[in-house]
Amino acid sequence: MEKERVIIIGSGPAGLTAALYAARAQLNPVVIVGNQLGGQISITSEVENYPGFPEPGLTGPELVELMQRQAERFGARLEYDEVVAVDFNSGSPFYVKTHHQEYLADAVIVTAGASPRRLGVPGEEEFIGRGVSYCATCDGFFFRGKNVLVVGGGDSAVEEGLFLTKFANTVSIIHRRDELRAGPALQQRAYNNEKIAFIWDTVVTEVIGNGMVTAVEISNLKTGQTVQLPADGVFIYVGHYPNSQFLEGQLAMDEHGYVITDEKMRTSVPGVFAAGEIQDPIYRQIATSVGQGCAAAMQCEKWLSERE
Ligand code: NAP
Repeated sequence: MEKERVIIIGSGPAGLTAALYAARAQLNPVVIVGNQLGGQISITSEVENYPGFPEPGLTGPELVELMQRQAERFGARLEYDEVVAVDFNSGSPFYVKTHHQEYLADAVIVTAGASPRRLGVPGEEEFIGRGVSYCATCDGFFFRGKNVLVVGGGDSAVEEGLFLTKFANTVSIIHRRDELRAGPALQQRAYNNEKIAFIWDTVVTEVIGNGMVTAVEISNLKTGQTVQLPADGVFIYVGHYPNSQFLEGQLAMDEHGYVITDEKMRTSVPGVFAAGEIQDPIYRQIATSVGQGCAAAMQCEKWLSERE
């Protein structure tokens, strides 16, 4: 087993930024990419609020590619593999095991991000890929001329609902309250879009189909009325959970599984840092993840040089 200086677990904006800074600090970082290069931005249709890109049309995958190229230019090495276990309790050098390899590293930066939360209703799992989707960018094209539903009232639901109007005939956004959580600019665009309708105070209680999704059962929380609503697709945007299962017993976490860090991105284990959505349940923006990844790499470099 070769010993690495720094291993970065995850390749979203936090991970790729940490890689850029660690590479420029001559630490030859190894990035274990995870199941999706770029993490959640790779499934984002359009990025409108990352500074430096004033023209419309920048897609998530394009931004990922730019970040990757920049990190690699300074010597970051990307491994297309997934971490399955770590041992941080024994101290540095830290043990990291992936599907295909075992590593030791003087320091680790955890940027494993978050994943879309499931609704947890009957039929949801069964129809994933057959009408149920968590990614409009990936699957929107298959719904040309169809009628789709979006579940959720946050930025993701409204933004991806707007994206789906490029393909779908109608987009109905089902929200459990009568007020959106999404920001005012997105809200306004949705209200102005004639393809979008809103179904308020309502939850989905079942996804129904026959090979493919044909309908959902919805329930109005105010009236208690339950009806079946025909639909060709259901896009679910009801928040996220941190990808921290492989860290259980290794790092201190809050009750929702977010890794606890201090203002220097230090975790409960000296030499292990964390950045991005794995430790941030509040902001979860590309810009904040980039800043946290930068800070984690700078603190990591400082920790390594003070130790030597
Ligand atoms: P979010 O802000 O947590 O919103 C989740 C939505 O799902 C909420 O409207 C919530 O309803 C609803 N919900 C949660 N559990 C539900 C359930 N079991 N059944 C039905 N509805 C449920 O998640 P997000 O929209 O994915 O956004 C995550 C973060 O990324 C946010 O900080 C957001 O600002 C950011 N983001 C930003 C942009 C942008 O700036 N353009 C784009 C995408 C995401 P309630 O409202 O009633 O809680």
